Amino acid sequence: MAEKSFKYVIIGGGVSAGYAAREFGKQGVKPGELAIISKEAVAPYERPALSKAYLFPEGTARLPGFHVCVGSGGERLLPEWYKEKGIELILSTEIVKADLAAKTLVSAAGEIFKYHILIIATGSAVIRLTDFGVQGADAKNILYLREIDDADKLVEVIKGKKNGKVVIVGGGYIGLELSAALRINNLDVTMVYPEPWCMPRLFTAGIAAFYEGYYANKGVKIIKGTVAVGFNADSNGEVKEVKLKDGRVLEADIVVVGVGGRPLVTLFKGQVEEEKGGIKTDAFFKTSVSDVYAVGDVATFPMKLYNDIRRVEHVDHARKSAEQAVKAIKSNEEGKTIDVYDYLPFFYSRSFDLSWQFYGDNVGDAVLFGDNDPASPNPKFGSYWIKDGKVVGAFLEGGSPDENKAIAKVARVQPPAVNLDLLTKEGLSFACKI
Ligand code: FAD
Repeated sequence: MAEKSFKYVIIGGGVSAGYAAREFGKQGVKPGELAIISKEAVAPYERPALSKAYLFPEGTARLPGFHVCVGSGGERLLPEWYKEKGIELILSTEIVKADLAAKTLVSAAGEIFKYHILIIATGSAVIRLTDFGVQGADAKNILYLREIDDADKLVEVIKGKKNGKVVIVGGGYIGLELSAALRINNLDVTMVYPEPWCMPRLFTAGIAAFYEGYYANKGVKIIKGTVAVGFNADSNGEVKEVKLKDGRVLEADIVVVGVGGRPLVTLFKGQVEEEKGGIKTDAFFKTSVSDVYAVGDVATFPMKLYNDIRRVEHVDHARKSAEQAVKAIKSNEEGKTIDVYDYLPFFYSRSFDLSWQFYGDNVGDAVLFGDNDPASPNPKFGSYWIKDGKVVGAFLEGGSPDENKAIAKVARVQPPAVNLDLLTKEGLSFACKI
């Protein structure tokens, strides 16, 4: 079988890979030095679009519209861009074996790739109900969403089940965005999740109450405190019913499951140090193996701001970690140093006419401010998290670009706040003063 050799190889062709390629381009990579090997059939794109405009009946997003780096206001890297730069995009190619000691990767088709420096950017895979042996979970039209092929399947099923019934399993951000997108497609949507409120890892009960109320007003039904324990299918094998643990049975033409992901690190098991489920890196995304870097969802890295070691599954970090790793690689070659990664966590989501941003850490006490009435024509509200007398996290729904900048600054600066009643009263104006 053919063997190919590159100075730099990125394994994975998602968000991090795309932003890494752009940084390599800026740093003057030479033709033939860099290859991106991806299981997907398309050049790197902004993955968040898949649960948003990709599914809209109008104003639909399609490639090449959302190739990286448009999501952060940057240049759109079309397949031709890689060609011009002499960056080899090796698509529809899954790596099934990685030997870090021998600096060799092997694809499912048996091709061998050699590298000098490797960047691991394999991202996450969805957790499937079949992984837990949930009865009937392999029925047709029980779908997941991670890659563009999954989104295409979903679009096809939406078209085939006009006005049908959808059950969304999971109340995280994928569940919330998909419920909205499917409701906009005029489907009858029910969400099911076990927690007392949606997005419990980030939202407080107060924040969640707004979204649950807003979704209910849009006609999305929400069933909390129970889980799907089985599925019934018709004679074609298509899902027809979802059985809940509390005994209820829901009719369903489509089920979409969004119950989380897990970082794709199995290829490297036993070859590289791991922590918190990811590949352990330093502040330059260097792993325990020399010449091997890990970025994006798979990296567990030092978070300077909190003097902690964390893994972050969000697009902003995917972009920034990739840029940091490439800068570190290139400066290393020139015998220079760069600053350590100093990341301020940033998460966002959009659904219906809503849009929220969160910066910092959601620990300590939380206060809620603003107009969080789900029936309000222009809701705008937020939360601050306060720990050890300092504001460490800030959330805002419906903020303008300047207001979002202000809450980002609060989370970065961590101003003192002792009087929580006053903070609630001041609300957004507290952030705008910082
Ligand atoms: P990915 O972008 O997932 O890329 C990994 C790539 O590696 C994929 O192309 C995959 O096919 C490839 N790959 C994996 N294994 C192999 C292998 N063995 N061989 C070859 N290729 C391989 N974050 C937000 O902050 N806001 C959002 O609104 C938001 N929306 C999202 C919506 C959806 C539907 C999804 C799935 C995620 C969303 N995220 C969002 C999370 C964000 O997209 C991820 O954190 C980000 O994509 C991680 O980038 P990555 O490069 O690490 O991994």
